[in-house]
Amino acid sequence: MSTMEYDKLYVAGDWRTPAGSDRIDVRSATTEEKIGSVPEGVEADIDAAVDSARRAFDGPDSWGNWEPARRQEVLLRFADELEKRGPETASRVSQQNGMPIVVAEAFEIPFPPLLLRYYSQLVVDQADERRPGMLGGTAVIRRQPIGVVAAIVPWNVPQGITFLKIAPALAAGCTVVLKPAPETVLDAFLMAEAAVAAGLPEGVLNIVPGGRELGAYLVEHPGVDKVSFTGSTAAGRAIAETCGRLLRPVTLELGGKSAAIVLDDADLLGNIESFFASTLLNNGQICWLGTRILAPQNRYSEVVDTIAGLASNLVIGDPLERTTQIGPLVSARQRDRVESYIAKGSADGGRLAAGGGRPADRDKGWFVQPTVFADVDPNHTIAQEEIFGPVLAVIPYSDEAQAVQIANDTDYGLGGSVWTADMERGEAFARKVRTGTIGVNHYVNDPTAPFGGIKSSGMGRELGPEGLVAFQTLQTIYLPPAAAN
Ligand code: NAD
Repeated sequence: MSTMEYDKLYVAGDWRTPAGSDRIDVRSATTEEKIGSVPEGVEADIDAAVDSARRAFDGPDSWGNWEPARRQEVLLRFADELEKRGPETASRVSQQNGMPIVVAEAFEIPFPPLLLRYYSQLVVDQADERRPGMLGGTAVIRRQPIGVVAAIVPWNVPQGITFLKIAPALAAGCTVVLKPAPETVLDAFLMAEAAVAAGLPEGVLNIVPGGRELGAYLVEHPGVDKVSFTGSTAAGRAIAETCGRLLRPVTLELGGKSAAIVLDDADLLGNIESFFASTLLNNGQICWLGTRILAPQNRYSEVVDTIAGLASNLVIGDPLERTTQIGPLVSARQRDRVESYIAKGSADGGRLAAGGGRPADRDKGWFVQPTVFADVDPNHTIAQEEIFGPVLAVIPYSDEAQAVQIANDTDYGLGGSVWTADMERGEAFARKVRTGTIGVNHYVNDPTAPFGGIKSSGMGRELGPEGLVAFQTLQTIYLPPAAAN
């Protein structure tokens, strides 16, 4: 089978020869075979990309000074070009990180064009505010693009997460240097093809793939005005330190260890598909998944059996097959990490109720069985640390007060879900959980509503109008009383 090979980088509006000669090889998570390669960016490529983004932002006819409707025309063309490549994008993502194709079709195909259309319209509709002052006069409040944005993304939902950043950034009038994760570069290069076809002006979007050192170099770069990062809490802390020193605005979407709280009236079986999507989607490789299941003592064994039954019956297989519910993990390293947590879960005294190993019928691919531990103590490592694989920990609770206490006893605060037959009760419970987002009987990130975390899950919000504000800065013009008349 031929592999996908790229020789150039998308920088300064076109395909350019890279400064270095190293390459990033991409392997299929399913076959472990090489499926493509791209040039690995080096510091000189970042310099060229930031320079170009800077010129596109600062120049006389700069992207940020264009009328929003003019930017919108370009971004709508970009959306159309992405849509044309949607099926190929989904296929590349699935091959690279093991995302089941039906999940890729639900997230990676529609989100990028949807977000470009949503944000470009939001900016067209945004007018300057003229606010009557308390001291007489009028304050004119303008929203301006914040500048050159460094966008750094992980591999788990590479297209969706990229567009949470670049759609509002580009719509606001910012220019962008994107650093995709090395594991998922092939979809980023397809996206660059869409940008070229859509005729994005020179320097508005630049893509330089590389690892963490290159990301750190980009974060520090003097030409960058804003950093938008999604990834691990450890990397987020390092980036926050740099941005603190530089007084550089930063948005951080980091790790999670969210709770799925089953109340004593819940119909888990009746909601099993939503429960699966909220706890095990994308092979457990999503930051907001509810991987700590809190189960009431009076229904404990039934809840454990239901979840163990769900996990044991999931279809594990090639993520390109439409019937597959659980594909492989992104890399051997990630599988090792997940397996070490499974070992720790057993060593700490968790009771294995489902899974715990590799599927017997797969001798290739970085597969791990969906795994459920029962009788987990809230202080066990697998109840506190993010695993980022298909591993659930079921923790018993005696009453609602204890459930709230356990749910909030975590360093993280990103997602969560409450399961109940009574929506009012569910919403009331959700209000007591300290987390950035939480669902009742499902968990779906709606594009119109802010998404993000508290505590070690990060700071700032993406999606909704709030996700646009992250790429804007305010200018106030004070007009004296006479001018207001
Ligand atoms: P990671 O932090 O190792 O890498 C993420 C990206 O940052 C990659 O592009 C990487 O090259 C780059 N990077 C790493 N260290 C860096 C540094 N010091 N400076 C600059 N760039 C750096 O994370 P990962 O393993 O690729 O992704 C998994 C993590 O991402 C999980 O912790 C998960 O919870 C988190 N995540 C969070 C969200 C969210 O919205 N909160 C969404 C998806 C994933």
